[in-house]
Amino acid sequence: MNIKANYIAGEWVGGKSSAENVNPSDTRDVIGLYARADAAQAADAIAAAQAAQPKWAAFTLQQRADALDRVGSEIAARQAELADLLAREEGKALPDAAGEVQRAAQIFKFFAGEALRVPGELLASTRPGMSVEITREPIGVVSVITPWNFPIAIPAWKIAPALAYGNAVVFKPAELVPGSAWALTEILSRAGLPAGTFNLVMGRGRDVGEAMLGDARVAGVTFTGSEGTGRRVAQACVTRRGPMARFQLEMGGKNPLVVLDDADLEVAVNCAINGAYFSTGQRCTASSRLIVTEGIHDRFVEAMVAKLKTLAVGDARRAGTVIGPVVDAAQLQQDLDYIDIGRTEGATLAIGGEALPEVDGQPGFYLRPALFTGATNAMRICREEIFGPVAAVIRAADADEALALANDTDYGLSAGVCTTSLKWAAHFKRHLQAGMVMVNAPTAGVDPHVPFGGRKASSFGPREQGRHAAEFYTTVKTAYVSP
Ligand code: NAD
Repeated sequence: MNIKANYIAGEWVGGKSSAENVNPSDTRDVIGLYARADAAQAADAIAAAQAAQPKWAAFTLQQRADALDRVGSEIAARQAELADLLAREEGKALPDAAGEVQRAAQIFKFFAGEALRVPGELLASTRPGMSVEITREPIGVVSVITPWNFPIAIPAWKIAPALAYGNAVVFKPAELVPGSAWALTEILSRAGLPAGTFNLVMGRGRDVGEAMLGDARVAGVTFTGSEGTGRRVAQACVTRRGPMARFQLEMGGKNPLVVLDDADLEVAVNCAINGAYFSTGQRCTASSRLIVTEGIHDRFVEAMVAKLKTLAVGDARRAGTVIGPVVDAAQLQQDLDYIDIGRTEGATLAIGGEALPEVDGQPGFYLRPALFTGATNAMRICREEIFGPVAAVIRAADADEALALANDTDYGLSAGVCTTSLKWAAHFKRHLQAGMVMVNAPTAGVDPHVPFGGRKASSFGPREQGRHAAEFYTTVKTAYVSP
């Protein structure tokens, strides 16, 4: 089997070792062998990026826009093939995988447009005859470090703005999903960027990732992943030798979906099923806490259990599958451990929670979606991120208590409310402490052209995506001009 290589300084470069990419829907299926870089190769990629960045920044805005637009067009044209690869390596059901690939294409096209619209300001000075110009410049070399759960969309929403604003990129995808990253790199390798502007180094966080934080030639680190790793990234960026790096962290969630007495039951159940279980619950925006008021609680639980019985668990690429496998053995064990913790804490497992060693004769990391009832917000299953198809129903006396419970968490990424009342919709929209608020919509599933990010322990630094991405990927210059 040929080994898919790293991409450094415009060349395909073999790794120091390699690793198998295994299909979680059928562990007998090895998708391919992918190179693993080491710290020295990460340093080579940083050097190449540093050398290339001024050349790329000197491209005209139109050239940069055209390059990003070509990338977006090719992703869109190859949507079916890329979605199949993504579903095969990550286990996301094919329709969700297709949606993610489409979003990646939209993001590249959006930032192709943004490359032409870099904003600035011209102000009069307080000093006579002087004017003040405020402009944005690229920051330089950006390290992009991504998790496994959105193998193409998260890399896209970091790489596209980094390049749009004239930066060079060193990209390290998560170890579990090198396939989508490699495919995206292959597309970028033909987009007409100067050699070294974009580099791929696949490998482990503790060597390749660390090397991408501690190198003073890196001006900024954009990271999405777990809270623990995020803290490590922050620490490395401020304690390294030389200038500190700016950093942007998108981390975990424990997102509440509040269902009020006056909610449309069908809407609420659809929001909860989609938000908690689609993509096998492996979304940072997943609704893992379902906070339901007294008057609708029993009807909601009954309808949820009925709906959960109908969700087909199986091979991510099989037609009809709604819930694909968990991504790997370690994540499956984590999910099962939390299901045990929930039972021990006194919550009732209303349905699901069993691991299925095989489905249709295929060995994989399958788990029936689990719903707990009778949970309290103090339980670990309601405070810690599980990152699997596991949700807990918390009963609330009324809307005020539901709001207080929703906000009683260390996290603040996304939050939702289901209600038919304009008054309560406005009240929750205003008072939910989260970066993103959804009214009668699932907590997960966002648009590609507007800001994404959270509060509290979920995020640190400027928002990603939309026009707000410029805050991280550019640095502001204030120039005073006297005639
Ligand atoms: P992770 O933290 O284990 O890994 C994320 C990335 O960091 C990987 O590429 C990994 O190799 C790298 N890494 C690990 N140690 C490193 C180190 N010492 N130095 C540099 N890089 C290092 O996270 P994961 O398991 O891949 O992803 C799941 C987590 O991601 C969940 O907590 C989830 O909530 C979070 N997530 C957050 C968002 C968001 O936008 N808030 C989106 C998706 C996923």
